[in-house]
Amino acid sequence: MDLKEIMNQGVQAIKDADNLERLEEVRISFLSKKGHLSLAMRQMKDLSNEEKPAFGKAVNETKEAIESVLKDRFQELKDIALNESMKKNAIDITLPGTSLKPGLQNPLILMVREMEAFFQEMGYKVVEGDELELDLYNFEKANIPKDHPAREMQDTFFIDEHNLLRTHTTAIQTRTLEEYAPQIPIKVVCPGKVYRRDDDDATHSHQFMQLEGLVVGHNITLADLKGTLSLFAKRMFGEDRVIRFRPSYFQFTEPSVEIDVTCHICNGKGCNVCKQTGWIEILGGGMVHPKVLQDAGYDDETLTGFAFGVGIERIAMLKYGIEDIRMFYTNDMRFIDQFKRFD
Ligand SMILES: [Zn+2]
Repeated sequence: MDLKEIMNQGVQAIKDADNLERLEEVRISFLSKKGHLSLAMRQMKDLSNEEKPAFGKAVNETKEAIESVLKDRFQELKDIALNESMKKNAIDITLPGTSLKPGLQNPLILMVREMEAFFQEMGYKVVEGDELELDLYNFEKANIPKDHPAREMQDTFFIDEHNLLRTHTTAIQTRTLEEYAPQIPIKVVCPGKVYRRDDDDATHSHQFMQLEGLVVGHNITLADLKGTLSLFAKRMFGEDRVIRFRPSYFQFTEPSVEIDVTCHICNGKGCNVCKQTGWIEILGGGMVHPKVLQDAGYDDETLTGFAFGVGIERIAMLKYGIEDIRMFYTNDMRFIDQFKRFD
C-alpha cells in the first residue's frame, strides 16, 4: 500500500470501528511496529538520497493525521461507552425508597406506663430500685429471715452469700420504708424486673416484671386497699369489673389476701380463661406486717399500711389474650407490631 492508500483505509477503518476494542485493533494494524506505516517505511531504503527526506516527511504527516483521527474517535467511543454504562447502572430517583422500620415499645413497658399513670393520678410516687439486691432488703427486712421456708418458694439467683438478683420488687419497698422512716405518709408504686430460678414455659419465666404498691399512714385499713384495687381492676379490665378478697398468707403482710377480679371475657359467667369460675386471680396484698414497720423504724402501734403486688406479664396476658409469656422477651416484630396503637 502506498501512503495515500494507508491514509484512506486507515481513516475509513477508524470511522468503522464501533467500539474501543475494535479501535485498538485498527491502531495496531496501522501504527504499530508491524503495522502498515512501518511496512511503508521499509520502502525508504530503495529511494535515492534526494527522495528520502520528502518521503520521510510524508510518512510522518500520514502518521500524525491517522493519530489525530484515532484520538478523536477514541474520545467519541469512550463517551458512548460511559453513557451506556450510566444508562445500564442508572438509579431511578423517582422510585419510592425502602422505609426504615421505627422501633416500638415493648408491650410490657406500655403496660407499666399504663399502671404507673393510674397510680400517679391517685397521688402515688413511682420508685425504682436495683435488680442486684442485698439479701437484707430482699428477704430479711421483708420478714423472711434466713432459713425461713418462704425462701424456698422463691428459688433465688444468689451472686454470693449477701448479694442476689431480687426475687420481688418488695426489695424496693423495704428500702423505701427505711429511707422514709419515721415520716408519713408513704404512697409509692415500685415497678421492675425480678428473677427466679424457674424453667421457662408458656406461663413461667426466670425473669418477669412486678409492680408493687405501698401506703403507710394513720388509719390505713383493708377497706382502703379494696377501694384502691377495685378502681385499678376497673381501669385495667373495664368499668363492670368487681373484685373480691380471699384470705391468703404472705410474710410481708398480715392479714394477707389474694385478689380476684370478675372475668372480663365471660363477664363472670364462666369460660376457659377463668376456668369456669367467673373469677381471675390478679393480685396479692394485705396489711403491712407490724414487724416490717418496726424493723424499718416506724411505730406500729399508731401507724398502719397496706401493700399489694401484681405480675405485669399476667395482667398484659389476660388483657390482650396472650397465651405464651415468652412472647414478651423474644422481640418478634410480628408480635410487638400489634401494640403500635398505644404509641
Ligand atoms: Zn371467664
